[in-house]
Amino acid sequence: MRRILFESLVARPLTEKAPAKDDAALAALAQRVDRAAWRRLGRSLSIREVDAGSCNGCELEIHALNNAFYDLERFGLRFVASPRHADILLVTGPVTKNMREALRRTYDATPDPKWVVAVGDCAVDGGIFTGSYAVIGAVENVVPVDLHIRGCPPRPTQLLAGLLALLESM
Ligand code: SF4
Repeated sequence: MRRILFESLVARPLTEKAPAKDDAALAALAQRVDRAAWRRLGRSLSIREVDAGSCNGCELEIHALNNAFYDLERFGLRFVASPRHADILLVTGPVTKNMREALRRTYDATPDPKWVVAVGDCAVDGGIFTGSYAVIGAVENVVPVDLHIRGCPPRPTQLLAGLLALLESM
């Protein structure tokens, strides 16, 4: 016991190194998203995140957009608490049977024009949960989807690139 305690005190933590910080590329991408939003909507983009049954891996990446590292709000992009204030719904996870009605109501509560982005492999086609008795599967089985962003989970920069592609295709 004493040996294990000593080893755990001197052992280095088993963590991955933080990704290299590329401020310039990230800032350029986020600014392009914000400029595209102003061109299309006349204002900054408001995003509502909907967890329709994910394992929360995708949420960690989406939340990272707001952390001190990415800090998206400095570019005007913001997450809102109500679908009534949102332009875009970011939907994660395979849609579970329990979340089908909630997702449908959230979609109905979002004012037009609105866009839906399916985030992560599970949202695109059910991913590793395909065939489960508890899930319906892809988001597009419940609401219309405008953009799919693959990945398990997709990185924050992939999310930004997806949003940019969506805004530029509007
Ligand atoms: S795509 Fe991966 S990280 Fe996202 S909800 Fe599915 S299993 Fe989790």
